[in-house]
Amino acid sequence: MKIIDNAAEMRAWCREARRAGKSIGFVPTMGALHEGHLSLMRAAAQGNELAVASIFVNPTQFAPHEDFNQYPRTFDQDVAMCASVGVVAVYAPTARTMYTEDYSTFVTVGGVSEGLCGGSRPHFFRGVATVVTKLFNAVEADRAYFGQKDAQQCAVIKRMVRDLDMAVEIVEMPIVREPDGLAMSSRNRYLSAEERTRALCLSQSLFAAQERLQGGERDAETVKDAVRQGMQGVKIDYVALVDAETMRPVERVERPVLLAVAALLESARLIDNVKFDPAGNGGSLT
Ligand code: AMP
Repeated sequence: MKIIDNAAEMRAWCREARRAGKSIGFVPTMGALHEGHLSLMRAAAQGNELAVASIFVNPTQFAPHEDFNQYPRTFDQDVAMCASVGVVAVYAPTARTMYTEDYSTFVTVGGVSEGLCGGSRPHFFRGVATVVTKLFNAVEADRAYFGQKDAQQCAVIKRMVRDLDMAVEIVEMPIVREPDGLAMSSRNRYLSAEERTRALCLSQSLFAAQERLQGGERDAETVKDAVRQGMQGVKIDYVALVDAETMRPVERVERPVLLAVAALLESARLIDNVKFDPAGNGGSLT
């Protein structure tokens, strides 16, 4: 297992591997790894000759009042977990090398970044698009793997890669859930036992709504209302039903959509979603 902390060395490593004819699959993470991250890494290792992961808690995607300082950092355990699923190199730069004191360049992705998490966290996608661009410039991968858990983030990255002609294929992987349905997240470890129980209403309301969609419901307001009803035990940040590609709100479900929620519990903000395709096999994408 190779651990690399700077872009020049990471790029040199990738170039040598690619000169030797080896394909590279890349999984960007902020560490505090769980099965969701590992599913991406397994896919990267299976779909490519070499799998690379990055571990970097990116300061530019946190607002000053958010949890950057508290974000769990479990580096040694993370590296061991990466190795256990076939990752051969970990890129772990420091904040200081990523963002020099006079750093001044940012990537903004219009349209798909607006609304949902972009509405509640206006700084967020600029930070994500910027750091993913920097990571792609260091890890020259054939494919990069992202989780549907952060579905709007996937849409933003796909749009950025398309618009800026980046030479990497984006692979979106399904959400990995706890046995009771809670979407896995590094932030779940903030939750008290009581909050953990209340948090189940996110996935439960989404699954119930997905069943209504599968049963033929097409009116967005009706679907969103049912989700809101189901989430009465938590403070709702948003309930959105949007076009799965553009992230624009829809009134009727006539093409693939994303039904996404965010909720504020006392110790963490949680997000979850399901996708639905009215023309798809059984109607569901997840
Ligand atoms: P993070 O470390 O939270 O920035 O996440 C790194 C990557 O793992 C992102 O592409 C996430 O979408 C993905 N990810 C996080 N949680 C899950 C999950 N429960 N299932 C699938 N992918 C996930």
